[in-house]
Order: sequence, then structure tokens, then C-alpha cells
Amino acid sequence: MNTLRFPEVTTSYSLHNHSNFSDGASTLEEMCRAAKSAGLTVFGISDHWVEPAYAGTGTESWRMAHDRLDEYVETLQKLKRSLDDDNFTLKIGLEVDFFFENMDDIFARLKQYPLDYLIGSVHCCGTFPVDHDASDWLPLPPEKRDAICEMYWQKLEGAAKCKEFTFLGHLDLPKKFAIIDNDRYLAHASRVLDILKENGGAIELNTSGWFKPCSAPYPSLDILKAACAREIPVYINADAHHCDHVRRNFTEALELLQLAGYKNRA
Ligand SMILES: [Zn+2]
Ligand SMILES: [Zn+2]
Repeated sequence: MNTLRFPEVTTSYSLHNHSNFSDGASTLEEMCRAAKSAGLTVFGISDHWVEPAYAGTGTESWRMAHDRLDEYVETLQKLKRSLDDDNFTLKIGLEVDFFFENMDDIFARLKQYPLDYLIGSVHCCGTFPVDHDASDWLPLPPEKRDAICEMYWQKLEGAAKCKEFTFLGHLDLPKKFAIIDNDRYLAHASRVLDILKENGGAIELNTSGWFKPCSAPYPSLDILKAACAREIPVYINADAHHCDHVRRNFTEALELLQLAGYKNRA
């Protein structure tokens, strides 16, 4: 992994991206070629790896099939051999869903593969799909929404404690549909950041939120400022699900990080 050190940020890496091995629209080859054409120097694919510890999550529709990991890694290794040069490095990663119940088993299985990095994310609170659709949230009374957010941040604390994750994905994801009051959970985010600081972890500025109902990247400027105050490294990522989006809003992301106190590496 090409790791960033606080306070540097760069717009020439992008490590959170999906292909049609999970819920992306483009092939691995289309994604990698687009990244190279866009001038990225380090590009990582991180398709969804979800091994739910219980039934009913409905994650089959968007995660990688469990019997395709060999094919995924082999295809990326082949692309790496043909595309890597002095100015471009392809990295092989996964975005892994955190579950308290079975993380040790998941990490043990993934360690058998030559993966460069793992992103730790939470998309499921129990069987509730946090970022699937606004219609999942809308019928819920405020106390139920709050309970889901509480569980979300509790799970993220668990993920922050895992030293196997290179960084955590889209920290304040529950704000996606602009239904909850995200500011209520700033103290929760601070607890996650404290744990990351203690464990040498990192976060991302995920630009995809700009194109969702919340019209803001993950996480918010307040959380980025709190991360900067703790000297936590940040990766700018597109969370691209299409080859046209591998570097989407990176200039805006850099500006926001500079506002939070980070410095451009270049
Ligand atoms: Zn995600
Ligand atoms: Zn993602």
C-alpha cells in the first residue's frame, strides 16, 4: 500500500472503487483503463466482500459472489501486469462489511489472498440496509431511526478497532438520504476517530455523497476537522461504480480537506 501520512492528501490516488464483480456497472478492465487515462497514479479496486453473520441481510444482490474471489484476484493480477508502469500502480483490495460476530473468521479467510488493502465499512445494522433506499428509513419513527444510527456508530467503533483495515469507508453513511440529523452523531464520530488515532488507522473522504440526496461527501467537514485535529490520514476516493466516475469531484474534495486543515501532497 502507498500509505499517506498526516497531514498530506493527494488527488492522484483512488482506492475505493467497484466493478461488476459486485455492484459496479463497468468491468475490472474498464475501471482500470479509465483510472490510468484519468491520470491517477495509484488505483485500487475494492469490490464488496460481505459475509453476514446471520440471515436476512439481502446483501446477495450487491456483494461479490463468495466463489468468485479467486477469479477477481487473478483478473486484477493480470491487469496489473499489463497496466503497471512508472506512473501507474494497480492495487487489489476489498470493501469488507464489519460484523462483530465473525470478523476473525473473515480476516483469516481473506489473508489467504494476495490483497493489498481492506476497507472497513458498515452497510447493515442487524438486517437493516443503511444505504439501500430512502423508503427503508421513511416509515420509521424517530426513535427507531436513532436506534439504527446508534448501532451503526457502535459497529463502526468495532471496525475502527480492527487493525486489518487500511481505512474506514464513508464514515457518516446514514446521512445519505438526508433523513436523519447527522450533527447529532458528531460525538459518536469523535469516538471512532479516537480509536483510529490510537490504532494508527485512517479514513477516506468519499466524494460519492455529493451525488446522493444528502449532496455532501462522507464525512462532513466537522468530522474532517476532528480527524485533522487528531492527525488522522485521509484518502480521497470516488467510490466509483462506473468507469466515468473514478476521479469525480476530487478538486472539491481537496478544497474541503484544506479547509479542514490538511495539506496537498503535490
Ligand atoms: Zn460502501
Ligand atoms: Zn463502496
